[in-house]
Amino acid sequence: MNKITCVYCKTPFSEPHDEHIIPNFLGGRKKSANIVCVKCNSEFGRTVEAEMSKQLNSLRVILGLLSSRGKKAPSIKGIKLKDGRIVNLNHGGKPVFAVPRIEKERQPDGTLCIKAFVGSEKQFKQIIKGHKRKGEIKNVAKVKGQEYIKEYLPLNLSLGGPDFFRATAKIAFNFLAILLSREEILSSQFDPLRDYIRKGEISKGASVWYDFDCPFALGTPIGPIDHSVAIACDPESNKIISWVRFYHSFCFRVEISNTYQGEKIGAYYRVNPIESKDSEDKWWPDDPNIFKKSFVHQSIHNMYEKMVEATGYILERWQDKSYNDITHEITEKCMQEVFGKPDGRIITEEDISKLAECIAERYVKFAFRLDSKANIKMNK
Ligand SMILES: [Zn+2]
Repeated sequence: MNKITCVYCKTPFSEPHDEHIIPNFLGGRKKSANIVCVKCNSEFGRTVEAEMSKQLNSLRVILGLLSSRGKKAPSIKGIKLKDGRIVNLNHGGKPVFAVPRIEKERQPDGTLCIKAFVGSEKQFKQIIKGHKRKGEIKNVAKVKGQEYIKEYLPLNLSLGGPDFFRATAKIAFNFLAILLSREEILSSQFDPLRDYIRKGEISKGASVWYDFDCPFALGTPIGPIDHSVAIACDPESNKIISWVRFYHSFCFRVEISNTYQGEKIGAYYRVNPIESKDSEDKWWPDDPNIFKKSFVHQSIHNMYEKMVEATGYILERWQDKSYNDITHEITEKCMQEVFGKPDGRIITEEDISKLAECIAERYVKFAFRLDSKANIKMNK
């Protein structure tokens, strides 16, 4: 049998192993046996994918989504209510009390009335069995009722962190592995991303950021809460950029390469986890400037309203396309200054404020250098 080289550790292997492009637990059905060796696969499963699964689990449970193999998401256990009682949240968002509550009351006629608040038929039967054994009850009159939980369940819905980001980068790289030739995918331009996904090592060239607004369509939608991965390989800017979006809402941008010299390729793959459908096609970003702009440049664009007060003049320059290269350079420098190396964390609004401050300051310097008579208004 021919040996295949693992795109992550570059070790040849002969035991084929199906790798899902988008993980099975998210409903991804597209797979390839030419991507990952068994060793890397089990390592990823234990580490980065376990973290991603954990973080996305509450939404899977609430929405009652199945994996591509038809499995339910594991229940969320041990949610504490305000009155101290503990509930578990099952598939479809159904809360059940983790521990049954039992109230015993002696009636005036001498009979013992036992009230059991249970989460399931199974729990009920167990309780009855126990009391029968003790000889406390002979006959059971079962009354069905429902108790509603009248408060918000404190669920953890935060996404991000180094391991989650690595798993996100892996989805992008899995997809790239089936778009490029074997020779290309194994080339050294992707080594930084390989190191990042495998070991969490940050080196030049690989980064993942939370994308505040993913302003363009990542291919044709396939459902209201689909997961998608889109890739654009652009030889003109030498960039390969990927966007990975979960539940049509949480978008991450993965900078895969900035030394790309191959063919122009654009593609997307989407999964509809509700109906177990997927689709893929050729795709290209509808904003041609996407490769020229740095990601933070885009994010800051959202803060236009806030910044315009303090840096009206500067932003006019900012918006001028002829300054695009310079704005890009300034943005990059400020990114390095404020964030250091990309470390796979979520960028907060506070970070953006710091960055905006840094950029504004540099722009003032830049504008002075450009035109010393420029009328700069800095209203604080
Ligand atoms: Zn491997």
